[in-house]
Order: sequence, then C-alpha cells, then structure tokens
Amino acid sequence: MPDIVQLLPENIANQIAAGEVIQRPASAVKELLENAVDADATEIKLFVNDAGKALIQVIDNGNGMSETDARMCFERHATSKIKNIEDLFHIKTMGFRGEALASIAGVAQVELKTKNGDDTTGTYIEIENSVVKTQQPIAAPQGTSICMKNLFFNVPARRNFLKSNASELRHIVDEFIRVAMAFPEIFFSLTSNGQQVFHLERGTLKQRIVQILGNNYAAKLVSVQEETDYMNIYGFVGKPETAKKTRGDQYFFVNNRFIKSAYLNHAVMNAFSDMIAKDSFPMYALFIDLDPSRLDINVHPTKQEIKFEDEKIIYAFVQSAVKHALAQFSVTPTLDFDLDVSIHQSDAVSKPFTDDKRSAAASSSLYKTFTQKHQAHFIESKSDLQHWDQQLPDTSDKLPVTGNQTAGNEDFFDGKKIKETACSPEPVQKKEDKKPTGNNFVQLHNSIIIAENRNGFIAIHQQNAHERILYEKFVNAIKGKPIATQRSLFPVTIELVPADTVLLNELLDDLKLLGYLIEPFGSNTFVIQGSPADIIQGNERATIEKMLDQYKHYSTELKFNKREKLLRSMAWQQSVKTGTSLDQKEIISLINDLFECETPNCTPNGKPSYLEFKKDELDKMFGR
Ligand code: ADP
Ligand code: MG
Repeated sequence: MPDIVQLLPENIANQIAAGEVIQRPASAVKELLENAVDADATEIKLFVNDAGKALIQVIDNGNGMSETDARMCFERHATSKIKNIEDLFHIKTMGFRGEALASIAGVAQVELKTKNGDDTTGTYIEIENSVVKTQQPIAAPQGTSICMKNLFFNVPARRNFLKSNASELRHIVDEFIRVAMAFPEIFFSLTSNGQQVFHLERGTLKQRIVQILGNNYAAKLVSVQEETDYMNIYGFVGKPETAKKTRGDQYFFVNNRFIKSAYLNHAVMNAFSDMIAKDSFPMYALFIDLDPSRLDINVHPTKQEIKFEDEKIIYAFVQSAVKHALAQFSVTPTLDFDLDVSIHQSDAVSKPFTDDKRSAAASSSLYKTFTQKHQAHFIESKSDLQHWDQQLPDTSDKLPVTGNQTAGNEDFFDGKKIKETACSPEPVQKKEDKKPTGNNFVQLHNSIIIAENRNGFIAIHQQNAHERILYEKFVNAIKGKPIATQRSLFPVTIELVPADTVLLNELLDDLKLLGYLIEPFGSNTFVIQGSPADIIQGNERATIEKMLDQYKHYSTELKFNKREKLLRSMAWQQSVKTGTSLDQKEIISLINDLFECETPNCTPNGKPSYLEFKKDELDKMFGR
C-alpha cells in the first residue's frame, strides 16, 4: 500500500482556516478594524462596496509595518501580539491568533500598503489566493491601508452563501458599531458605495454612544461606574423611559471586546425590572474590565461568547452596579429597596453561591450595593439565578443580540415577538365585550370617538386606532398578502441625502409589499413609480420622506428589526391624525376595521386605542 497522508498546500489550508475566521464580509471588517485598533491608530476609515462583497478597505494611521513584517503578516499564526503561552493570559490586544490576515489572503485579492514610523519608504504587497503577486517599495504615510477585493472569488460555494447586500451591510454596520463604541478616543468613519454612513469624531464614551445611537439618548443616559479589586464596570444605561419594545441597543464589552451574554443581559434586565414594562428592553453599553486571567480567552475569537472564571459574581456585580446607578440618579422614586438600610457585609467572592444563599437572597428585599470600593463581596441578588434562562427566551448561542433585525429573520412575525406592553392585548372574549353596539357615534375634539357598547361606552382615540389598523394590515402584507400597487401616471422623483439613500435602498423590497413601487435612479435619486391603490395619489414624496424621518426616529436604534421599524413608521405616517374631522361613514369603517384587528386595544407601540367606561361604575360615581 502506498502512503497516502499528505500535507495540504498552504493556500488550501488557508482557505479551510478562513472558513472559521471569515464567514462573511462583516467578519473581515471586524478583523481589519481590530488590527487597526491594535496598531494604536487614532483614525480608522472603513470603505465598503457592494456590502463588502466587492471591496473592503481599512485605512489607519497606526504603527504600520516594516517590510519584513508586511510580508510575514500573511503567514498563518504570524502575530506580533503574543510570544509564549504565558502571554495568553495577559492579552490586552484584540487579536492574538495570527490567523486573520492569512485567512483573508486565502479568500480574496488583497493589497497592503504600510509604512512604520522609522522607515522612509513604505511597502506595497499584492497577494491573491495566498500567493504574493507583487511586492515593491512605495511612498506612503505612516499607517496601514488594507484593501480586499472580491471576497471568496476562489470559493464560489461560500460566495453563493452570502446574503443580500442589505443584509450583509447590516452585519458590517453591526461590527463597525461594536468596535467604534469601545474606542471613543479613535476617529472612525464608514463609507458604503461612496456614501459616508458614519463619521464619528473622537470624544467621550457618552458622546460616542449618542453619535451612534442618536440624539434621543443625549439627556437620557445614566452613568454606571463601580470599582472593586475583582473587577470594574463602567458605561451607561438608558433611563427607563427610553426602554424599547424591541431588543435593540444593548452592548456588553469585556476588556473592550464586544460579547453576547444572555446571562449578563438578564442581570441588567433584573436591575431594571421594577422600572420598565415587562416586555421592553432598556438601552445599555456596559464595559467590564477584569484581569484577563479570570477569563477563558481560549474561546474562539469569532465567537462572542465568553467564559468567566466565576459567572455568578459577575452577574451579581452587574446587577448591583446598574441598580445602584439607577437609584443614585434617582431615576425612580418608587424602587422597592432602600439604599439607606444597613449595608450587609457578605461572604468573600470565592464562596459558592449556594442554594441556601440563593433563596435567602431571593427573599431579601434589601439592596446590597457596592457603595464602597473594594467590596466585591456584597454579592446578593434578588433574582432567582436558577431560572434566569427560562425567563429569557434567547440563549446566546441561539439568538444573536442583533439577530432579529436582519432581513432574513422572519420569525419576528411569528406573533410572539410583536408584543405590546404599556397596554397588553386583550383576549378575544374581551374584544367582543368591548365592541360598540348600535350606530350612534360622536366625534369629540376631532380626535376621540364615543361609542356605546354592551357595558357602557368606549372612547376611541382615532389616531391610535388607525395606527393599529394599518399596522396589522401591513404585517399581513409582509406575511403574504401584498397591498396592490397603482402605477403613477406621472412618476415623481425624490432626492435624498446619502444616509437616507442607504436606508431607502434597504427598504425597497418591503415597501413594494406595502404597495410602493420605488426604483433607484442614479445617485441619491429615486423614482416613485406606484403607490398603494387604496390611498389617494399625490402625496407620495411627502409620505416617503416622512416615513424615513419616523423610521430614523425609531432607529436611532440601529439594531431594531428593519421591518418592524418600517411597519411602525408607515402605520404612524399614514394614520389619520388627531384634529381631523371624520364623517359618519369614516367613523363606522374605522370602528369596524379596528374590531377586525387581532389586537384592537392598543397601538403597536403600546398606547391604548380605546378606553372603556362601565355603566355600573358610572352609576356608582353618580351615587346610584
Ligand atoms: P493577530 O491580529 O491575531 O496578531 P492578524 O492576522 O490579524 O493576527 O495580523 C497579523 C499581524 O500583522 C499582527 O499581529 C500585526 O503585527 C500585523 N498587522 C496587521 N494589521 C495591522 C495594521 N493595521 N497595522 C499594523 N500592523 C498590523
Ligand atoms: Mg488581527
């Protein structure tokens, strides 16, 4: 028998390795941005074309590389960041495996320009399929520019696996934000197809959060900051009133690395539990710093899960720190704990969280806080740790924090996730009960409709009611009952700013299902070819512009499900506003449509659409 074991050629080995590190354009973006951060850059610019499928370029003004390093960096396991196994336990850099550039060079056409501070000339290298094509000296400023073209050009199977540009771009934006959020002292920009999407000046963490998540948060952030000898936590949480109905702006970083942790998320949710509606999600951007030796760094770099030496301590710490912050800023006067009660010393951090302790903690209404430094020892939690995973539908490996905002994720419409909170949906039986009887309707103040029903009367808020009606109609349209389009006789063009262009491009497919036929027409211009057959033509431009505005209003939270934002924006945009006088026919059809809805009693945002006034109670009030 001949020997059959062979070493794989380097380019094939790299292609296989790339499968783990570079799954999609966004993973390359993450690696390149992190390399620039590790190189101490103060300015990092990202350019992508076709959502990174055609081009990803990162330009930094960091340390740059010598000629030899420039050549070496594409070798597998070539890294400047660790030298021996000991270093592994003190990692301060984002990268350390030396795999990213080798992988990238295995699956794209790469051009590297780099110069370090000491050298007079820089180095230019072209590499493709792991083979160096060109290497020559060039004039270059200090820093590095890496340009990768045609990702997966040599692995068609992987290329075909990529999602639509809209979806891949969204992944890129996610990765970009995760890096940019963690390094507010670095300037970042993101340009997509020549249009600048982000331009993030250097500043404080607070400024960076507002730059990324939007001005709505400007006066609504509460600072979290606790230090102990075990670990530190700092960052911001949104005031309870900024909590959203959809999981969105939630970021955890451990030693500046973005992580996903359903467990720690639960700790924050618990800290907020008395202050926000049950199904809403508070904003947070929290940074945990701890000794790298207390982390299992050996989890795969592209996975965002992390293993802590002692998870329970971190959980209790996070929860307490957030509670403390919220209490200190007296965000809510009605907290069910009292900060002034004597602070209890408790066991050392090393002691296990026993069942006894857990139940004692669960029954304790006292708030044990980390008010003094070096007291990582006040570990008690009101939460029932045993059940945290049941309370929380997602576990980190099943659902990426941002997963439900990608275009491909249809399960948003499985009915479970569209949740109302401030006012909760009524059972069908109740709906029948509340339904108006008879035909006597009165509109008051051009905004409220009074209608008699079985038990008394209801006051219907016309705009809230209409928002509900439209919202359900749009949800059905997306689910498979598209709204008919009427072609315009005189198509209107609409010109937008670049950021809005990116946005509208992403929404075109869904808008079509809602009856809007819109086609891109050169740079930043669109033509509205058709609009929903059931609304009067003539306002298309204003409708789209207002919809985009409202969409952005919802989406200073970039991480909100795209469709959900669109549906809510459109429902709000097209709803009949308060102040509009309605005739009997319109009132009747509004009421009929409302009670055809699955959830007539609230708007998608959880405002009531009607209030019931019971005759019994009115009688009582009248002393009868
Ligand atoms: P790692 O980041 O894990 O070390 P990479 O493959 O990402 O591995 O990069 C290999 C090496 O190339 C890095 O260790 C670093 O020395 C060098 N390098 C990569 N990108 C840059 C950059 N933008 N500026 C300076 N050096 C870089
Ligand atoms: Mg790296």
